[in-house]
Amino acid sequence: MKQLILDLDTGIDDALAILYALGLEQEGLCRLAGITCTFGNVTAGTAARNSRALLGLLGREDIPVFAGSNRRFGTEEEYEPDPVCRVIHGENGIGNVDILMPEENFVDSQGDALRFLADMAERYEKDLAVIATASMANIARWLKGDRETALKAGRIAIMGGALTVPGNVTPFAEANMLADPEAARFVFESGAKLLMTGLDATLRTSRGAGEMEEKMARWGSEGGRAGRVFLDMLTYYCENESQDKVGAIHDPLAVAAVFKPKLVTTMDLDLTVETEGPSRGRTIGDMRRFMDGEKTARVCVDADGEGFLEDFSKVCLKGLLAAGRR
Ligand code: CA
Repeated sequence: MKQLILDLDTGIDDALAILYALGLEQEGLCRLAGITCTFGNVTAGTAARNSRALLGLLGREDIPVFAGSNRRFGTEEEYEPDPVCRVIHGENGIGNVDILMPEENFVDSQGDALRFLADMAERYEKDLAVIATASMANIARWLKGDRETALKAGRIAIMGGALTVPGNVTPFAEANMLADPEAARFVFESGAKLLMTGLDATLRTSRGAGEMEEKMARWGSEGGRAGRVFLDMLTYYCENESQDKVGAIHDPLAVAAVFKPKLVTTMDLDLTVETEGPSRGRTIGDMRRFMDGEKTARVCVDADGEGFLEDFSKVCLKGLLAAGRR
């Protein structure tokens, strides 16, 4: 079975990715081996606390959580989230839902996020999937510090970027790319095999709160307390993610792209990320590698939004029912 590490900046769609991954465990498609955290929606420390709290809610304290880098790649500057993130994801990063948080002095699992990634890649090689749905700070540091081990992992999947559509923070840039463009460029140009699920695909899953609640209604009626908490988070998110009052299930779709590839349409292309000028944070084809035969990245350029939402609803319910049995 594939071992999965999620690299998160645990806001709401990251929380949904945790639940979706636990549902995929029930389908026998993967084992969620651990969570590493970095910055983006929230700081790395908050992401770790939120992840720990959500795993507690789901009865999965056995899954280790590691707080990774809170600094932009190549800098010593501590990251503070943009005030807009507090609106989209709520003051606590997870839609202001009331769940038991770890102590203020909570210490994440012993050991270091990068060490954990490296150990898992050494041990499982191609059977390890790393899915990063935050800034690329941890992944860039891993590739820079321990390239040989990082390349042993199966494809590194990311949620981020926008190839054929505009960005969601600037006309060019998607949020995870703009959080740390230097890190993203380093990852894209590293030679690692990547699977990019960006706005091209994830915006196909945009729905209003009412429609989303209807699709996920069974979480509330059958999923116990955790189901109601996740439904509240989802409602909050759909009302606040965009000015159009719709929310897209970004991070879980990046997980689906790995385990249910029929839900997405891909093209192979070597990518880079622009780091200068108004298009800072833009994902684009790398012209220096344009003529290369073998491409390093696979980009999701479309998704079956309706098919995914149906799958997402069912898979997450399996995760919730498993939590209820614990
Ligand atoms: Ca995220």
